[in-house]
This record gives sequence, C-alpha cells and structure tokens, in this order.
Amino acid sequence: MTNILSFDWEKDDYVRISGMVDENADFSELYKKHHEVLFLDLKGVHRINSSGVRKWVLALDKLKDVELHYINCSFPVVDQLSMVPEFINKKSYVESFDARYVCENDNTTHIFNLVVGFDIQPGLKKYEDGPERFCPNCKNRLEFDHNPDSYLFFLSNLHPKKKAAS
Ligand SMILES: [Zn+2]
Repeated sequence: MTNILSFDWEKDDYVRISGMVDENADFSELYKKHHEVLFLDLKGVHRINSSGVRKWVLALDKLKDVELHYINCSFPVVDQLSMVPEFINKKSYVESFDARYVCENDNTTHIFNLVVGFDIQPGLKKYEDGPERFCPNCKNRLEFDHNPDSYLFFLSNLHPKKKAAS
C-alpha cells in the first residue's frame, strides 16, 4: 500500500485512484484535460482523513461540470460518502462499492462489490440491511458487517441514474 495518491489512467476517461487522501492529495491530474465524463475507480483508496475530505471537496468544485462516476468505492470512500454529503456533487453517481460480510458459522469474512441499481437500489429512505449474500464455503447466510443505517446512508441521497455506465 502506498500513501502517495496515484492516478493510473486505464482509458482516456477512466482512472484508478489509489493511496491515501490527506493534506498532500493532489487532484490536479483530473482537471488537466476537459472531460465531460470521468470514471473514477476508487478501490485502492485505503484511507481518507479530514484534510483529505477538504481536498476532495475542493477538487469536486473544479470538476463541477464533469459527470463523475465513482466505481468500486472502498470502505473509507463509502464512509465519507455517507458522512459528508459534499463528497458527491450533483453530477456524480456511485456505480459500485465494497461491502463486508461475515459468516457466523465458520468465522470468515467476505467482501462483495455491490452494484448500485442492480444489487442494491438507490433512493430508499432507510436501509435496514445489505443485500442477501451466502458464504462461499458453507452456504450459510452471511451477516452484513456494517451498520446499514450509516454505511448505506449515501444511497438515500443518490439521484436516479440517468444513463448507463460504459
Ligand atoms: Zn461459512
């Protein structure tokens, strides 16, 4: 794991962001070009501190005309999405995010990538549980390992999807 925020461009409009989002986070890479749409793969973002949140919100202001799609949001990203409404702007959409489940039968932990609009619907007033998942080892029904009320809160604020991701 690296602490320096890195940007790996997979396509012209698709970038993998990884590392730690802190006071040193530099998002200028995202607004060097004029993008209309940007896909941000956030799987590798392993920590975000309060200075990082500020940096992110400032970056979003510079990207306010860009349609942003957050993909593969890691746990720290989801926490911020749910705690800081400004973490997503009016043109942003969360495509998918990670969720952790535990098997109480064999004490194993499993991470699932949940696709918004497919595995879980956005726009509900309240989320009482994650979507049902089963243990790959013993087929036991897994327990959602987050407080659904807080972890999934960002989904309540998500506007309905206008167009499909590529
Ligand atoms: Zn199991």
